[in-house]
Amino acid sequence: MSSSEQDQTDKQKYEFKKVIEDLREYEGSGTQLVTIYIPDDRQISSVVEHVTQEHSEASNIKSKQTRTAVQDALTSIKDRLRYYDVYPPDNGMVIFSGAIDTGGGRTDMVTKVLESPPQPIESFRYHCDSDFLTEPLEEMLGDKGLFGLIVLDRREANVGWLKGKRVEPVKSASSLVPGKQRKGGQSAQRFARLRLEAIDNFYQEVAGMADDLFVDQRHEMDGILVGGPSPTKDEFLDGDYLHHELQDMVLGKFDVSYTDESGLYDLVDAAQDILDEYEVMQDKSEMEEFFKELHDGDLATYGFEATRENLIMGAVDRLLISEDLRQDVITYECPNGHEEREVVERREDTPDHDCSRCGETVAADDAEREDLIDHLMEIADQRGTETKFISTDFEKGEQLLNAFGGVAGILRYDTGV
Ligand SMILES: [Zn+2]
Repeated sequence: MSSSEQDQTDKQKYEFKKVIEDLREYEGSGTQLVTIYIPDDRQISSVVEHVTQEHSEASNIKSKQTRTAVQDALTSIKDRLRYYDVYPPDNGMVIFSGAIDTGGGRTDMVTKVLESPPQPIESFRYHCDSDFLTEPLEEMLGDKGLFGLIVLDRREANVGWLKGKRVEPVKSASSLVPGKQRKGGQSAQRFARLRLEAIDNFYQEVAGMADDLFVDQRHEMDGILVGGPSPTKDEFLDGDYLHHELQDMVLGKFDVSYTDESGLYDLVDAAQDILDEYEVMQDKSEMEEFFKELHDGDLATYGFEATRENLIMGAVDRLLISEDLRQDVITYECPNGHEEREVVERREDTPDHDCSRCGETVAADDAEREDLIDHLMEIADQRGTETKFISTDFEKGEQLLNAFGGVAGILRYDTGV
């Protein structure tokens, strides 16, 4: 993946996250919030059919209020579906619709469509409940990383992917390795030799299966995890059966009792510490570099205003933004043409602003308010600056949020700002 594609997905992920955070807070007073997950190979016409069916079944709902709310939601979804041709966009889409509580017994109709999530939607899902179904999307956004998984013993093997938090079994094989008990009449020596041969063949077969799946994607992969009972997994790894580049990508071997598909899930559980560490590894190295520049160099900037100014100059190499930053920036232009900005928490109302240069007051209504991250990322895009979202799951990541306003940058050159 090129860095501009990576930026694109980071930005898209951020947009998704924002919508999901809003959706998660909504509640319906009854079972009346509708969520539909649509894979990209599902024809829109069949979705419309499904929605029409649900609409007619909703007429059986006893509470008039809930009935009306569900039917309104479904009508709104049908309206949205009209914008699409035969199939949904790549990777599918998710539609949320329903009357949400806004307090004091009042409701508000909300309909949101999220197109082309970062990973494909696997199956069609219709969900009607008192809250929106956001978990499958959250899982897609939650973690980075693409790992190859191999579990094996002498009888069976499975290979698959770990994509973010999702395990995807792909191929399996079973062996003809005979048990330890030889049949009568067979010489012990011959039996042992045949058995070793069969084991060796099977390891080769498993390696071939892994090579087929992983070799083409080795540059996108973050590592390989191998699981199984001892000594099978050790024999397999020590015997260098895997393609040499894959062999170098093995992050660890883990004791796993099952080697069927469920073994792949056990393997991910067993490797959780390594995966957690990996998750923040890149973020950690960015923050290390930032602190090093901050203390011993001139290539660090932080805080909204300074970082923004450096960004505009085109001096920022990497923009570092805390994943948990939830702020807006408000731009005021006073009658004398002075432009100033204020940063507020997302939940705060827009305040009036006194111009620091001439004292004129600009009313909140005349100000332009926008998401702080969007604001900075847009400038970064124009200046060819990479944006990195930094997790708060480690100390220096937390410091970015709490001590540096959630925004920092590593500069291309010292600007004196
Ligand atoms: Zn002014």
